Amino acid sequence: MVTSAFQTAQSHRLFAEAQQLMPGGVNSPVRAFKSVGSEPVFIERAEGAYLWDVDGNRYIEYINTWGPSIVGHSHPEVVSALREALPKGTSYGAPTRLENQMARRVIDAIPAVEMVRFVNSGTEATMSALRLARAFTGREKIIKFEGCYHGHADMLLVQAGSGVATLGLPDSPGVPKSTTAATLTAPYNDLAAVEALFKQHPSDVAGLILEPVVGNAGCLVPEIGFLEGLRDLTRAHGTVLIFDEVMSGFRLSYGGAQARYGIEPDLTCLGKIIGGGLPVGAYAGRRDIMEMVAPAGPMYQAGTLSGNPLAMTAGIKTLEILQRPGTYERLEELSARLADGLLAAAREAGHAATGNRVGAMFTLFFTEGPVRNFADAKRSDLQKFARFHRGMLERGVYLAPSQFEAGFMSLAHTEEDIDYTVAAARTVLAAL
Ligand SMILES: *Cc1c(COP(=O)(O)O)cnc(C)c1O
Repeated sequence: MVTSAFQTAQSHRLFAEAQQLMPGGVNSPVRAFKSVGSEPVFIERAEGAYLWDVDGNRYIEYINTWGPSIVGHSHPEVVSALREALPKGTSYGAPTRLENQMARRVIDAIPAVEMVRFVNSGTEATMSALRLARAFTGREKIIKFEGCYHGHADMLLVQAGSGVATLGLPDSPGVPKSTTAATLTAPYNDLAAVEALFKQHPSDVAGLILEPVVGNAGCLVPEIGFLEGLRDLTRAHGTVLIFDEVMSGFRLSYGGAQARYGIEPDLTCLGKIIGGGLPVGAYAGRRDIMEMVAPAGPMYQAGTLSGNPLAMTAGIKTLEILQRPGTYERLEELSARLADGLLAAAREAGHAATGNRVGAMFTLFFTEGPVRNFADAKRSDLQKFARFHRGMLERGVYLAPSQFEAGFMSLAHTEEDIDYTVAAARTVLAAL
């Protein structure tokens, strides 16, 4: 991949300019590469499994736009569908046939989903799903897990540290204490901690939300019985169980993590893949709960661009491609090859390392395992990760710029891409 030396002059110049124009030079914090102590590269274009930056460097990339580009960037069928849709207008603020088609696909894919409401982002999806859980139950408290990310709504920005969480202190200035006071937290994979919360608040918890497979603390895998236990506890306490599948939906299987693990939540949040690379989110689930949403019911939620025709078009085509035979087997095979290769390379080089993976989501943690929860993940050697990240970037491999993010595989990757990546990792890891 590195045909000429790694160049960054243009990215460096654009980043300097961007920092004068936008806070931190970016429109979403992780993109700034701050946590790996370097500067971002500016992207010029993307195709298949590759990104090209403004200095002409090409990268094999494992971020997939943080999930959506699962069929590969600029997939010819998605591009062609968009090209056909574009001249019909970009937005109407009125119902379209496309929304029915997309809703039908989501309902057919996920057994627990009977109705769906489209929004514009994952943040809107989780925020609305929790409002709905509160409206449905008439309760206020919610439970979330340390290290799970559900977008940036006030009530969900609760510090992972337990002492701070107990005090209901917000994670960010600007978040009123009153909005997080009703947010209870537990460590992921810790059913006893959730039981204790329910013992304390037996009939006050409106909703329990989690990433069934976590991507936002790095990849964390649910242990046997954890999701089942949450299903039982929430059912027993009349609490709405919400799977935030914004990342895992249509990635871990066509029916998401819930189909893979055989658990039916009451509500499901979606985003990322269902927009095929355009801005979309959705919350969906049981008909009796969804019918609380306006105008069918009294819970208000709206969106000027919701159900946008271009986003629906890209989403429909992406799901159509994913539904073809063999896609998830292919993703599994490629992801196993990469995750196993990276872990072996790290161990060969004598580093403490743990590989977590479910389907096409994976993380190489620079720590002795097991990594079962956020506290375990935080024991990783972040300095080492930063140097690993930089070394890979310089060799034409674009990884998420944080130890606490998952890696993603797409259908556009090839065995050659993966073998190149593992070979590059071997070189970089040997020099760390
Ligand atoms: C990305 C993500 C979100 C937030 O989605 P946005 O579209 O960035 O608002 C919420 N939940 C999970 C699990 C995510 O991965």
